[in-house]
Amino acid sequence: MTDNSQKKIILVVEDNPLNMKLSGDLLELNDFEVLKASNGHSALEALKRNTPDLILMDIGLQDMDGFEVYRKIREDERLNSVMVVALTALAMKEDEDKIKAAGFNFYITKPIDTKNFIKTIKEILSKVPSSFR
Ligand code: MN
Repeated sequence: MTDNSQKKIILVVEDNPLNMKLSGDLLELNDFEVLKASNGHSALEALKRNTPDLILMDIGLQDMDGFEVYRKIREDERLNSVMVVALTALAMKEDEDKIKAAGFNFYITKPIDTKNFIKTIKEILSKVPSSFR
């Protein structure tokens, strides 16, 4: 699809420049429109002007953690239909439980699996009920 209006918009919230570049490049190469924020405040600022289809949310950020950003996102009804995926290096069971309990739609562990990353993103997007759009 070459029509820009058809592109899915992904907001990547990530404070590590290398991780940001890797996810951003993979998404752009696969025809997603990518918005980037390197901390919680700039993510919330970007969300005042944009309603992405999906947010990739790093949990470990400098100014506030991903859980706090997530709670603020969920306070905004306009963003109800936005899928929020935790992006975390934490892979222990207790962390997984904490992420699920917080209400994140899904989570992806870092370092990201570059071979399956796009497939995973597309699968997550396909799980959005049509009534949510
Ligand atoms: Mn981080």
